[in-house]
Amino acid sequence: MSKVVKFGGSSLANAEQFRKVASIIRGDKSRKYVVPSAPGKRFSNDTKVTDLLYDCYDLAQEGKDFKKALQVIRERYQDIIDGLKLEISLDREFEIIQEQFEKKAGRDYAASRGEYLNGIVLASYLGFTFIDAAEVIFFTGEDGTWDAQKTKEVLSQRLKDCKNAVIPGFYGSLPDGRIKTFSRGGSDITGSIVAQAAGVDVYENWTDVSGFLIADPRIIDNPKGIEVITYRELRELSYMGAGVLHEDAIFPVRQEGIPINIRNTNAPEDEGTWIVGSTCQKSKYVITGIAGKKGFCSVSVEKDMMNSEIGFGRKVLSAFEEQGISFEHMPSGIDTLTVFVHQDEFMSKEQKVVAGIHRMVKPDAIEIESDLALIAVVGRGMKSTRGTAGRIFSALAHSNVNVKMIDQGSSELNIIIGVENSDFETAIRAIYDIFVLTAI
Ligand code: ADP
Ligand code: ASP
Ligand code: MG
Repeated sequence: MSKVVKFGGSSLANAEQFRKVASIIRGDKSRKYVVPSAPGKRFSNDTKVTDLLYDCYDLAQEGKDFKKALQVIRERYQDIIDGLKLEISLDREFEIIQEQFEKKAGRDYAASRGEYLNGIVLASYLGFTFIDAAEVIFFTGEDGTWDAQKTKEVLSQRLKDCKNAVIPGFYGSLPDGRIKTFSRGGSDITGSIVAQAAGVDVYENWTDVSGFLIADPRIIDNPKGIEVITYRELRELSYMGAGVLHEDAIFPVRQEGIPINIRNTNAPEDEGTWIVGSTCQKSKYVITGIAGKKGFCSVSVEKDMMNSEIGFGRKVLSAFEEQGISFEHMPSGIDTLTVFVHQDEFMSKEQKVVAGIHRMVKPDAIEIESDLALIAVVGRGMKSTRGTAGRIFSALAHSNVNVKMIDQGSSELNIIIGVENSDFETAIRAIYDIFVLTAI
């Protein structure tokens, strides 16, 4: 049995958290490869080291004095080193970082230093080999996407020679050697890549909650946990805002059928959530989880007989495409078609898109509504249960939530509901209550 263990920012925020992490790793010899994030928040209004690095680099890029800001970051690491009574010094590393900031090495380089330095400290504390992710995780030159093949070749070889190793999360390198990061929260992806390359049995992802919860704990008090969830369900939920695991983190492990186990560093005895390819285990409730995001606009295009007009949908979408806007959902009726887009992307291009739609399809009317939220209700159990959409409708009606849109995905794995931003939390509570609290 062997495992890759990834620890998130809050699990490595200070020396005390490092001690918990070390005891988890030492408690199970199969925890061979460790992927750390940068130090996260130590208390609720603290700032993550990654955010400090972005801000510090922005100062450097504007030609302003960034030394004080860099000193604050340095102290975060020094506190951890002192707290753990380690003999190492990061002086040379910080000299290099300062030089690179002066040379404007890039925002990705800057952000990546958070996990790089944390990796050095953790490897020293554990007595494990440190492997710089820039040497083993690669991105392609053309479009900057992750180079799966080259990474697998180099990383597998490197891990074969190592009994134990620490590989920092979040970044890798481009063919010219420059550092590139994944999107925010990307250490989860690194963990998955390392798990795939090492061919381990389990990818443990340690965070600050006891697994994937049915709903966001910042909205629902003490939500119930999910014991087992499939990759597909999880992807729907993480894409729609359940921030526990990066939505792209399942791909590398999915290819190898490696399960992910989400665990809590602060409650290591909890079993957490198992994320698997498929399962015959029924979920406890009809739904597996609820997640959602605010900040959408709907653009409804009305035209009599549009259904019989060949290419109508394509033409409407091309008006968005021309402006580089991707759409989120597109429910349609006989004479109307609605396109949901991210408000922040759409606002500055609204007039151009509307003009484009007029030009392409000559609609009878275009109606735009802003400040909408989308909620995804996800569950493999919905397929075999009648009346799920009806229950959602009546729960929302009881809570006086005006439903703007409801769209059942073709997979019958999810139902997407559009509501006003201001109804977002009420709607999530209503859905949680009807399916979980009052479940029979
Ligand atoms: P890490 O720093 O360990 O990567 P994240 O902050 O990325 O941790 O993810 C964990 C956080 O995700 C939790 O603290 C919680 O606030 C939030 N979260 C949002 N939705 C959910 C959910 N459905 N289940 C569990 N946590 C959730
Ligand atoms: N430190 C990075 C971030 O804050 C990556 C991660 O934590 O996964 O986004
Ligand atoms: Mg995370």
